[in-house]
Amino acid sequence: MDTIAFNNLIDPCNRRLNYLRISITDRCNLRCAYCLPCEDVPRLAHEAVLRYEEILRIVRVGVRLGISKVRVTGGEPLVRKGVIGFLSELSRIPEIQDLSLTTNGVLLKDHLEALKSAGVSRINISLDTLNPERYRSITGIDAFHAVWEGIRAAQAMGFRPIKLNVVALNGINDDELVDLAGLSLEFPFHVRFIEFMPIGQSRIETRSPLLVPDIQKRIGVLGKLVPIERAEMDGPAHRYRFEGASGEIGFIPAISHQFCRRCNRLRLTASGQLRPCLLSDRQEDLKGPLRRGCSDADLAEVFFNATRHKPADHNLAVGEPAHVCCQMRSIGG
Ligand code: SAM
Repeated sequence: MDTIAFNNLIDPCNRRLNYLRISITDRCNLRCAYCLPCEDVPRLAHEAVLRYEEILRIVRVGVRLGISKVRVTGGEPLVRKGVIGFLSELSRIPEIQDLSLTTNGVLLKDHLEALKSAGVSRINISLDTLNPERYRSITGIDAFHAVWEGIRAAQAMGFRPIKLNVVALNGINDDELVDLAGLSLEFPFHVRFIEFMPIGQSRIETRSPLLVPDIQKRIGVLGKLVPIERAEMDGPAHRYRFEGASGEIGFIPAISHQFCRRCNRLRLTASGQLRPCLLSDRQEDLKGPLRRGCSDADLAEVFFNATRHKPADHNLAVGEPAHVCCQMRSIGG
């Protein structure tokens, strides 16, 4: 491992991969319409899920290859036992400059103190509606107020930035885009509109997806959107601010503009697979070699393989059928 140089996860398109997203569980306490089908999808057996110490070993190899940004996601990361201890361990890895969490927020309020102590200050929370009834119909659970209280408590405790992820869906929440965008005028939140991606099975009809140009047009009634200059660690989101707003608006044009040119990500699934592209099922096995006792150099080789096989772009033109079989909750979004 000592012979491996820093910063050498450079893919064939010259993108430097410095961002690892880790799904720590495929379990979730919500059943969002865009993430799960009606019928039960089998969950991973306990043994099939990477243990925290296994993930930490993978991350320690990753940081030696230039990974400096890590997001913990799921499934729902806050339902996995021991998540706070795991996050503390991650935040003690000096090479990680940016550690963040994506959560549905249902259990957030009760975890805020512990998250802060564990060194996590950047949180993304999924919030697709401001209507409690609709929240229940999208997610299957009556938890809007719990999530909103978690968001406000996080704000009061100084978590920054607080990003609110909105999957924009025709016929489901398109009549709320302006209200959701308006949160960035009232609060310092970063409201991010994500185009629906046909990944795994879901309960969403994809024939008329709601795309970023349309979203921009609709929320334009709130004022002029001023572009924000990209920062070094930014991912594929296009960032804007309404004039005078304390918050931001972000667009993730996964389908309409593609976001591949800016993609700096690798994804570690709950079952220990390294995926170079969210929208492709290609993956490299880390768990097998790890459990057979491989060296750190062998694990690094898996990172290099994933990097070599990162596609230039995805093949999901609007309206084409999905080719991604793995469920989003295993990949982590
Ligand atoms: N449970 C956490 C949550 O709800 O934020 C983390 C996991 S969730 C899979 C991560 C993100 O993926 C969420 O912001 C969710 O809205 C988004 N997501 C899930 N399925 C999606 C889809 N089909 N298209 C676009 N975004 C999706």
